[in-house]
Amino acid sequence: MNLIYLIGAGRSGTTILSLLLGNSESVTSLGELHQLPEYMGLEGKCSCGQLLSSCPYWNSVYSSLHNQFCSNSYKEQARELESHRYVYKYFFEKNRALTNSEYCSANKALLSHLSNNNQFTIDSAKYIGRGLALNSIFQKNIQFVYLVRDPRGVVNSFGKSVQTSRSWLSATAYYFIVNFTTLLVCKTLLRNKYIKIRYEDLISSPERVLSEIADSLDLDLDQVKVKLAKGEGLTTGHVIGGNRLVQDNIVHFKSSESWWEKMPRWKQWSIWVLTLPLNIINRYKL
Ligand SMILES: [Zn+2]
Repeated sequence: MNLIYLIGAGRSGTTILSLLLGNSESVTSLGELHQLPEYMGLEGKCSCGQLLSSCPYWNSVYSSLHNQFCSNSYKEQARELESHRYVYKYFFEKNRALTNSEYCSANKALLSHLSNNNQFTIDSAKYIGRGLALNSIFQKNIQFVYLVRDPRGVVNSFGKSVQTSRSWLSATAYYFIVNFTTLLVCKTLLRNKYIKIRYEDLISSPERVLSEIADSLDLDLDQVKVKLAKGEGLTTGHVIGGNRLVQDNIVHFKSSESWWEKMPRWKQWSIWVLTLPLNIINRYKL
């Protein structure tokens, strides 16, 4: 079993990246698995439009693991391990997840239930805490893709009235904290286990970025590249969570960044200055 965990701030393109990777036959995208307890409690539907109890992909997982994921002890342990505010604890105790037995056994059971030996499975939860918890559970069998996007694109996306919206200052602070912490975690606890991708490169040259990911994670993405070259639609499969993109069965890969046309110059400048060290590291120019 090989797990790929997508990490990064919200609105940075993890849904589109997970969709692209999931269109390879050797990869299964499962969506944002930190939301699994709610979906197991039938509070949300799979991207196919069915509750997990009746979805053809998830129903066997639902019947065998529903009790584990819906237990209070699982939810308590998940809160402790996945919350942003407890991420600092991993620097003092890298494998702290291992002492949370319900969390470990439920996630192990889930992934062994869903993955074939030679397959890759993707969790696009993004949360740093969940990534680090899974890292201690799966050790050599987990790799990370860190997706970073221009802060002005992220702030612009949070300004739209879909999902949770945030004011530009709150979105800028969120962006800085999450990306700074992710970078720190990647350079220390996840050293040699991650590849960093810029959202803008993925959008402008998907074939090249997919080749980089394929080389780094040792997986075959040729099928996805062929689909893109032919302009074929991408299938969404059975994913949980994610943005409205996955509500369609077939998605055509096209995306453009237009924040720079709509956003006032003063705001672009302020966001860029407030997130400056990251912009130098990630090569985002004013
Ligand atoms: Zn489904």
